Amino acid sequence: MTTGNGGTGRKTIVFAGGGHAHLYSLRRTRELRNQGFDVVLINPSRFLYYSGMAPGLLSRIYRPEEDRIDVKYLVEKGGGRFIKDRIKEINSDEQKVVLDSGESIHYDAMSMCLGSGVPNKDFAMSKDHLTPVKPVENMENLHWELRKLGNKDGHKPKVLVIGGGPAGCEMACNSLRVFEDHGIDGEVTLANANPVLLKSAPRRAQKKIEGFLRSRGVRVLLNSEVTKIEKDAAYTRDGTKIEFDLFILAVGIKPPDIFRKSGLRTGPDDGLWINEYLQSVTDPRIFGGGDSVAFQGEALTRLGVFAIRQGPVLFHNLQAFLKSEPMQEFKPQPVFLYILNLGNHEGLAIWGPLVWSGKSAWKLKDYIDVKFMKLFQYPEDEPGEVKAYFDRLSADDLADVGSGIRGYGALKAATGGTNVEGGGVAIPYPEKNGSSVVAVTIPGEGTIPAPQID
Ligand SMILES: Cc1cc2nc3c(=O)[nH]c(=O)nc-3n(C[C@H](O)[C@H](O)[C@H](O)COP(=O)(O)OP(=O)(O)OC[C@H]3O[C@@H](n4cnc5c(N)ncnc54)[C@H](O)[C@@H]3O)c2cc1C
Repeated sequence: MTTGNGGTGRKTIVFAGGGHAHLYSLRRTRELRNQGFDVVLINPSRFLYYSGMAPGLLSRIYRPEEDRIDVKYLVEKGGGRFIKDRIKEINSDEQKVVLDSGESIHYDAMSMCLGSGVPNKDFAMSKDHLTPVKPVENMENLHWELRKLGNKDGHKPKVLVIGGGPAGCEMACNSLRVFEDHGIDGEVTLANANPVLLKSAPRRAQKKIEGFLRSRGVRVLLNSEVTKIEKDAAYTRDGTKIEFDLFILAVGIKPPDIFRKSGLRTGPDDGLWINEYLQSVTDPRIFGGGDSVAFQGEALTRLGVFAIRQGPVLFHNLQAFLKSEPMQEFKPQPVFLYILNLGNHEGLAIWGPLVWSGKSAWKLKDYIDVKFMKLFQYPEDEPGEVKAYFDRLSADDLADVGSGIRGYGALKAATGGTNVEGGGVAIPYPEKNGSSVVAVTIPGEGTIPAPQID
């Protein structure tokens, strides 16, 4: 069955994926509705985890609720519809997307922001020990996995990070931090195929990060492409064996193959090919941003900063297209700021050729990230609006902690929840004033009282 506008004559804008490039529009769902459009968001979870804070989620500098945006709230608050599902196929001839559930959703205009994944087919056989850096909410599981390793029977746990880009370096630093914070005597190795870390960064940044990692005790292996993984050891091309208890895959990211499979033109790595208006060159009704697109046929650096800057252009162009008005061009900024979280309240900042590190870099990163999150975490127009919203939530809603976080067993650990007398788990929940605790029903773990948010 295809769901459309129910014969209202209103045009439907579909946001496919609740990614960073869509936040600007989702926050303005009411404006879109007032302009005469129906708004639908399709995302596998109610939450988007913000990547800038993800390494801090691993080391628990941030709690999960500080790092996530409730995209369901954003769209429903403005009168839009949230569908918790995954898009399987795009049928542009019939102007619809097909979901995993089998439902089809009609669009008059659609924006795609499906993010990216870490290609891991070569290492899939070791998935029990593997954590890819995408989706970024994997960092939450990883935090607990590292703590679980402990020093059982005097064993010194070994973590292997594969990949020496920004994400790999941040994983190494923040894994170390978890070991230190929990008194675990563990070892972190970083294996990188290239002769340098951060290969696209200025030489000074490459030297700084290598020096920093080595000084913190990370074993840095350069020119060390991992080509084979067995149950508890990896092998580099030259046959060097690296033992591990757990490995983190940070070997780069790539868009999903859904666009190619749906017959839309794509760039070389399957990203949706979009023009200067962020519009598909195959179907003018389809727009897109973030990691899953190829801007004018090429992938921009896959960073949230580009996705976020595409947000206002998508907001304008989706409406302009439907009203036959002029569209805006997206002009990627040639120089951008990237600050690595070094796990010890220091940062490494890279801004074009400028490089600096230390506490001031970390403070700047924290300031930017926290300020950004405030824009999207439960904005309230009327007093009490957020409380009223939470009062209506079902247990399923409350148990949804993100698509990358596995199973109910992990939920308690994942959210830092605590057992409640009589059964169940109390989960610290995000809201405006302080840290209230709400209750939730977890299958197999019992039921506890209704949400209480002051
Ligand atoms: C460890 C790490 C740290 C990083 N730090 C930074 C940083 O500090 N600064 C920075 O600028 N960038 C950073 N990045 C890069 C950043 O993660 C990405 O560039 C950014 O997430 C891209 O945003 P996006 O909206 O395209 O995708 P995402 O944020 O991944 O959003 C995609 C959304 O689409 C949903 N989705 C996926 N498939 C489907 C489907 N089939 N149907 C429906 N929905 C779907 C997903 O669930 C998700 O909600 C970091 C990356 C990593 C891995």
